[in-house]
Amino acid sequence: MEEIFVENILNKALKCHSLNKEEIITLLQYGGDKLIHTADNVRKKYTGDGVYIRALIEFSNYCTRTCYYCGLRVENNKIHRYRMSVPEIISAAKDAIEKGFHTIVLQSGEDSRFKIDELCRIVEEIKKNDAAVTLSIGEKSFEEYKRLKSAGADRYLLRIETTNRELYQKYHPKMSFENRLRCLEDLRTLGYEVGTGSLIGLEEQSVEMIAEDILFFKKINADMIGLGVFIPHPDTPLGRADAGDFELARRAVSVTRLILPDINIPATTAMETLKPNGRLLVLSAGANVVMLNAAEDTEHKKDYSIYPDKAGVNEGLEESLAGLKNSLDKIGRKIIVSKGFRYNNRGG
Ligand code: SAH
Repeated sequence: MEEIFVENILNKALKCHSLNKEEIITLLQYGGDKLIHTADNVRKKYTGDGVYIRALIEFSNYCTRTCYYCGLRVENNKIHRYRMSVPEIISAAKDAIEKGFHTIVLQSGEDSRFKIDELCRIVEEIKKNDAAVTLSIGEKSFEEYKRLKSAGADRYLLRIETTNRELYQKYHPKMSFENRLRCLEDLRTLGYEVGTGSLIGLEEQSVEMIAEDILFFKKINADMIGLGVFIPHPDTPLGRADAGDFELARRAVSVTRLILPDINIPATTAMETLKPNGRLLVLSAGANVVMLNAAEDTEHKKDYSIYPDKAGVNEGLEESLAGLKNSLDKIGRKIIVSKGFRYNNRGG
């Protein structure tokens, strides 16, 4: 019975790339291999077989926030904090560009020590090279986003984490869902390519809530969607909670691809951490982007412990790149050397 439903819903998605909440819920629950294959075909048709690579620099693990799930939260005093200097960040970015990367992703906790002038200087320096800059540094004011855009930043990643307000409030004390929405709107107004996404597998998060997240991605016409799967960090209030369901998160990637066919979707590190080969499984389910950690200092990679045992922390950038090339070969995909904007995707 469900199979007929799934088939009909997939046919509808192929025709109009639009689904209602009930249909999305059915796919999230019963989508199975048919969903995965259909999403993989849509990915191929709209973005081709290429995989965009991004070099990720996690430049500070200081954070003023208290997100319940995240190991960087201010109340975690077991973590060893680090902050790269401006020259170190610029040099790591240049090094990654020399190794063939055309997008640098700068990510950090919400570290108030970095003033906007410094951040702008970093962006300006990196933009002197042939590379796109993506920022993932949390909530800022319109003026700050504007200055960073003027400095040359191209894209911004800010996950909504969950669109369910009650859940959002519960896991993000002293933060405001409205402000998060405001940030995403401002980023759009300012002309950034906007990336958002959710954390799949939080306690009390229903399939219906995930469906609402996916409808939200469609509503704001996000350019990138990063879906992570929750991994408990022992030094957080959710340390004893169960990890999220890998397969459910993978189906969420597939449904997102069906309704936003030409966007960029990374196979996230959390997915690789939770399951061996997780990255390839997600690349075969609709994803077309991989972010590789470009830190020169292995200790920094370990200390950026948003969750424990992060995949790839013991590898250097060249090693991870070689490993990725190898595994992409096995699934008939290849790395594309490009800045990899959404508008670079072919369209169906
Ligand atoms: N401070 C930045 C970057 C945060 S870290 C910001 O606010 O955007 C990047 C992502 O890690 C977060 O958006 C969150 O979805 C994810 N994350 C944090 N803790 C996690 C955990 N325990 N398991 C899986 N993903 C987690």
